[in-house]
Amino acid sequence: MTETKEESRIGVFICHCGTNIAGSLSIQEVMDYAKTLDGVVVADEYQYMCSTPGQSKIIDAIKEHNLNGIVVAACSPRLHEPTFRTATQEGGLNKFRFEMANIRDQNSWVHMHDWEGATEKAKDQVLIAVAKARMLEDLQPKSVPVEHSALVLGGGVGGMQAALDLASAGIKTYLIEKAPTVGGRMSQLDKTFPTLDCSQCILTPKMVDVGRHPNIELRTYTEVENVEGYIGNFTITLRKKARGVLDPTEALERGIIGGGCNGCGDCAEVCPVIKPNPFEFGMAPRKAIYIYHPQVMPLQYTVDFDACVKCGLCVEACGEEKRAIDLDMVDTFEKVRVGTCILAIGYDFIPIEQKTEWGYKRFDNVITGLEFERLICASGPTGGKLIRPSDGQIPKKVGFVLCAGSRDNTGGVAKAYCSRFCCMYSLKHAHQIMEKIPGAVPYLFYMDIRSFGKMYEEFYYRIQNEGAKFIRGRVANILEDPTTKNLIVHTEDTLLGRPVAMEMDMVVLAAAIQPKPEAERIRQMFGVSKSQDGWLLEAHPKLNPCGTTTAGIYLAGVCQGPKDIPDTVAQAEGAASAASIPIHTGEVQLEPYFAQCMDEICAGCGMCVPQCPYGALALIDKEGRTVMEVTEAKCKGCGTCGGFCPGGAIKMQHFTSPQICAQIDAFLLKGGEY
Ligand SMILES: Cc1cc2nc3c(=O)[nH]c(=O)nc-3n(C[C@H](O)[C@H](O)[C@H](O)COP(=O)(O)OP(=O)(O)OC[C@H]3O[C@@H](n4cnc5c(N)ncnc54)[C@H](O)[C@@H]3O)c2cc1C
Ligand code: SF4
Ligand code: SF4
Repeated sequence: MTETKEESRIGVFICHCGTNIAGSLSIQEVMDYAKTLDGVVVADEYQYMCSTPGQSKIIDAIKEHNLNGIVVAACSPRLHEPTFRTATQEGGLNKFRFEMANIRDQNSWVHMHDWEGATEKAKDQVLIAVAKARMLEDLQPKSVPVEHSALVLGGGVGGMQAALDLASAGIKTYLIEKAPTVGGRMSQLDKTFPTLDCSQCILTPKMVDVGRHPNIELRTYTEVENVEGYIGNFTITLRKKARGVLDPTEALERGIIGGGCNGCGDCAEVCPVIKPNPFEFGMAPRKAIYIYHPQVMPLQYTVDFDACVKCGLCVEACGEEKRAIDLDMVDTFEKVRVGTCILAIGYDFIPIEQKTEWGYKRFDNVITGLEFERLICASGPTGGKLIRPSDGQIPKKVGFVLCAGSRDNTGGVAKAYCSRFCCMYSLKHAHQIMEKIPGAVPYLFYMDIRSFGKMYEEFYYRIQNEGAKFIRGRVANILEDPTTKNLIVHTEDTLLGRPVAMEMDMVVLAAAIQPKPEAERIRQMFGVSKSQDGWLLEAHPKLNPCGTTTAGIYLAGVCQGPKDIPDTVAQAEGAASAASIPIHTGEVQLEPYFAQCMDEICAGCGMCVPQCPYGALALIDKEGRTVMEVTEAKCKGCGTCGGFCPGGAIKMQHFTSPQICAQIDAFLLKGGEY
């Protein structure tokens, strides 16, 4: 490990970031200070260093002063490090001869009312960055080839759109769905706001398309078991759950010519086991061998082995010709290799019954928005007739509790965020009631109506004009009249400034949504972070909303945060486009922040090998000695191994011990403390 021996010739450039930085600290003082530092030959400032003139300052200075290290004191490297690296390269230097001091996010934004303190801290930040710049080395990024295939996890509208776009761009795409059919939540909806198209009618063509697209390998009733690798070269292990029913291809593989499930339903006819149908929230029965709904894709029955009594009646009904049912089927595993992945695993609901004040699951006539969708849907359990669960009567006064658990800081299961589509679907529900039930009046209990999308505000006016009643106030509690099973809704009408108690025939809760429970496992497998509220975290909320901080992994739909169908589809198209770029480019460059084993120091003990979270290390035989070897493409430069090696034999490129020690020394020797 050697320090760079050449004479240091460093340029320091300080950005005002408009007034973001310059409004909180003295740029001039920091610049004057930078000029005094060892190795600094030029220091300059500019209002926006990231602008073309700002970058030109760097490029010109490199040439004019023969610089061999660049420091920019500006904003977050997360966004602008690539910009300044490119400028460094354009000036003729290796782009890793660049170091950034974040004097905005880590300084001016947090010390905006302490001019002196912020200025002193900025000087220290520049001092530390210069100390590292003096020791920077040329590094070469590593190029790796990219598999010409992709994986999309989750077959809701978001996942299907992403898969169709990738496949249509000529990329072999594995679409993985854990349910027996694709479709997701949208297949449970009746109509969709604001156009009121039939949800299933606009969804079915997409479901059919993913089923027959030549570039889509559809795997339903399948989950991801393990993820290995890195951008360009992911190996994903899939677990195909035992479905108990063969499709025609699987039947053919078993030598059953012309066999396999054709969706006739003869098996379900004879099945003696009756269970509540979860797709209909228990409001309709289902057999132990079932399909969710008539439009399922693929049209193939599934055995619920938890319910099945293995009587064999379905096997008999299915017949010798098709021989589609195998009650001894077991889970099978498959490995697929893909270049990039899109996560589109959707969302769940908070356990709204835990907000006991609204009486869900205690009072028969309190239902959720999604249960309302099933009740009002022609293919739902009541054939589209909205009835009260308690007595089958048609409700005339229906209350809608908006923000049920959303925008709520009281803790427990409540969520501080807005679930973003419940205002709109409650307006839709209000319209559907007035359309279907003559004389029915919907009462919407709301905090604010958030109708922000295209034609949404117009939809809101339309529902107002149709006669829906709006009461502004959070519902405090709901009580039930034990005789009539009617519900008394207690709230405060904040516009009139008085408490209100209103009797309703039925109440619909617009329950807050939340990440799926398995999102935690999925994000850990794919190396994706989560935001404070638990949704999968995008690389940048504004400028990279489809990417993640793990190269090659992208997000689509509600798993990234609440959004309606148009926004889900738009993000899915964005994710597909982003995920296809490395695939079409054919190779990607990896940052060269790899661990390196110094063979002469390595004792070959192997203690580091199991520590690597990415499985990038192995012991090998090299010239008669056992030493550790790093698979650079797998290494993410986390430094775990470097910190662990008892002999100090592992060097982290760009974060070497001498570089880090130089930074600490510079600060401490100057007498720095905070
Ligand atoms: C009552 C109600 C009414 C609504 N009405 C409208 C409307 O009228 N208009 C509108 O624009 N929006 C509406 N929405 C919102 C709409 O449901 C969502 O915008 C849309 O479903 C988001 O699609 P998605 O693909 O992101 O997620 P989802 O629809 O949730 O799909 C996710 C898919 O991923 C699968 N999955 C999950 N985990 C895994 C895993 N580990 N492995 C494999 N697969 C997995 C799931 O089974 C599912 O198929 C409504 C929502 C509700 C609750
Ligand atoms: S074997 Fe199972 S699925 Fe088939 S009919 Fe009997 S209970 Fe139903
Ligand atoms: S969309 Fe409307 S009802 Fe839903 S949480 Fe946001 S403000 Fe509340």
